[in-house]
Amino acid sequence: MSAAAMRLLAGKTAAITGGTTGIGRAITIEYLRQGANVAVNHLGLAKDDPLRKSLIEDAERLRRETPNEAPTGQLLELAGDVTDPKTGEQLVAQAVERFGQLDIFVANAGIFKPCQFLDIDKEMFDTSMRVNVNGAFYASQAAARLMVKQGKGGSIIGISSISALVGGGLQVHYTPTKAALLSMTQSMAIALAKDRIRVNALLPGTIHTQLADHDMANEEKRRYLEQRIPWGRVGRPEDLAGPAVFLAADQMSGFVTGAQLLVDGGMYVHLQ
Ligand code: NAP
Repeated sequence: MSAAAMRLLAGKTAAITGGTTGIGRAITIEYLRQGANVAVNHLGLAKDDPLRKSLIEDAERLRRETPNEAPTGQLLELAGDVTDPKTGEQLVAQAVERFGQLDIFVANAGIFKPCQFLDIDKEMFDTSMRVNVNGAFYASQAAARLMVKQGKGGSIIGISSISALVGGGLQVHYTPTKAALLSMTQSMAIALAKDRIRVNALLPGTIHTQLADHDMANEEKRRYLEQRIPWGRVGRPEDLAGPAVFLAADQMSGFVTGAQLLVDGGMYVHLQ
């Protein structure tokens, strides 16, 4: 089989929110490697921001290293806050303007800082809901509207969390947002089935990104977490890349919709 035939997302276009760091970045790079053109959103990084620059450099390196007959995808990056409905609309519209279509959308942007329940104030709770729930809703809806108009189906993936299924004493402002996102993907799966748009959720366990830095920096907390994960380690952003390709690729998951896929090294079943 030729390299081109093996690229699972060749000819596809994806849009991903929060794609410059952590899980979103790992998915962006793998989608590019699998041949998709990718439009990523970030909050508004300056031109010379190291995160933005290194993502662009990674994408260029990937292109240089791959043979011409099976090109990797192209990257488009756009600034914008997902709490503004216009951000999602612009992201998907520009993806279509530049690449001609939209096939895959990943609602990844999210925030979390641990906080004692009694110390969570209105601003912290509302911001968590606005980014993790409203932001995901606005952008997913914009992507779905476009996909319905195109009439070629599509795949929408919500990055929920193991926290949608288990509680956390320092996460009372976070767990409901991830449960809402999971529920949203399930309802969207029903609403969009007639348009052949598949909607699924990925539920990462503890993944070492800047979002989980507070846990990773604390040796005792890190060891505690590792003991709760049968695989014996916390996750890496790249652990989400393969599952995100699987859910995006019709040839692999064409009958999978409304599903929730835990990517947690066995943490959830161990906690049960
Ligand atoms: P991360 O490295 O902090 O990435 C979060 C991304 O979201 C960043 O690119 C950030 O952009 C973007 N973002 C935040 N607020 C935004 C806004 N208002 N508008 C647009 N973009 C915004 O963390 P991560 O761990 O990769 O998280 C990605 C997703 O995975 C989140 O939804 C998170 O809830 C979920 N998750 C993570 C874990 C974990 O253990 N790490 C576990 C389960 C689920 P900037 O960098 O520009 O701020």
